Amino acid sequence: MQSRDTASLESLRNIAQALRSLVTYLVENNLDEVEINPKNGSQNPVRAIAEKHGIALDVLIDESVKRGLLKPYPVDMLVFCPKCGSSTFRLRLKCPNCGSLNVTRNTLFSHVTCGYIGVLEEAPRDSKGRIFCPKCKQELLKEGQDWVKIGVNWRCRDCGTTFAYPKPLLECVACGAKADENTLVYRQVYRYKVDKKIASDLYAQTFSKRVGEVLAAYGWTVTPASEIKGVSGIPKNATLLAERKGEKMLVYNIFPREGNVEEARREVLNALGAALDGAFNHLILGVKTPTQVAKMPENVSSIEGGTLEEVINKLRDKLTKEKH
Ligand SMILES: [Zn+2]
Ligand SMILES: [Zn+2]
Ligand SMILES: [Zn+2]
Repeated sequence: MQSRDTASLESLRNIAQALRSLVTYLVENNLDEVEINPKNGSQNPVRAIAEKHGIALDVLIDESVKRGLLKPYPVDMLVFCPKCGSSTFRLRLKCPNCGSLNVTRNTLFSHVTCGYIGVLEEAPRDSKGRIFCPKCKQELLKEGQDWVKIGVNWRCRDCGTTFAYPKPLLECVACGAKADENTLVYRQVYRYKVDKKIASDLYAQTFSKRVGEVLAAYGWTVTPASEIKGVSGIPKNATLLAERKGEKMLVYNIFPREGNVEEARREVLNALGAALDGAFNHLILGVKTPTQVAKMPENVSSIEGGTLEEVINKLRDKLTKEKH
C-alpha cells in the first residue's frame, strides 16, 4: 500500500513536470498548434518531453486536453500496426481466395493502330522499357492515342482465380508484424490547437514557481503580489514580493503573453514607471522581452533571456555574486 501510494505520487509529480515542460515548449516557441502522431516519429518534441519525464505520450496529451491547454481536431485517418503502433508498412498483395502472394495484374489494352487486344504485362518490351504490340510489332507510343487501356484484373498464379482487387498484406517496418484489413488499426489522427491564454497562464505559474524557488534558496521570503493585501505602494503589475531581513524587492515576471511582444514591452515600461517612486528595489525578469532602457533607475535591475531556463540561470548567478 505504502509503495503504491509512493509510486502514484511519483507519477503525478512526473505528469506535472511534463506538463510544465510542454507549456514552456509551447509558449517559448509561440506555437498555435501541434501535430502528434501517436507512438510514431521519435523526433516529435512532445513525445520527447513525455519520454524525458518518464510518462506515456498519451497520458501527457490526455492531461493537456483535460486542462484545456490542447484542443484536438481530426486531420487524417491512418493505418497503425496492431502490435507496435507504427504507421510505416511494406505493402504486399495477396489472393482473396487462397491467400497466396503470387498474384499478377493483367491490364487489358487495345492497340488502336492494328486493332489487337491483349494483356499489357505480357506484351514484349526491350531493354529501354519500350513496349511493343505482339501482333504488328510496332512500339506502343502514347496511351489514349495509338493504344488504350480497357480494364484491369488480377490473377492468382497458385489457384488460378481471377479477381478485381487483391487483398492488402501489410508488414510493419518497425516490428515485422503482419496485418491485413481485418487486423490493422485504422484510426483518426489529430492535430492539437494550443489554447494560448491557458498556455500563458500556466507558463506564468511556472515562471513564478521557478523564480520563487531560486529566491527562497538565497534566503528570500516570497509572496505572490496578488496575495498581498494592505501593503501600500505595491504596484498592481508586480508578480512577487520578496523580503529578506527587512529588505523588500518587487519582482516582475514578464514574457510575451499569447505571443504579444509589444504588450510584454509595455509591462516592462510599467514596471520601470512603478519603480520611480523609489520605495522598493525592483527586479525585472524578461523572457523573450527586452528589459533594458537607456537610463535604468538605480533601484531597478533586470535580467533577460531567450528562455525561462536562461533567465533562471542568470538569476542564480546574480544572487550568487551578490552573496560574495
Ligand atoms: Zn509493428
Ligand atoms: Zn489464389
Ligand atoms: Zn498492333
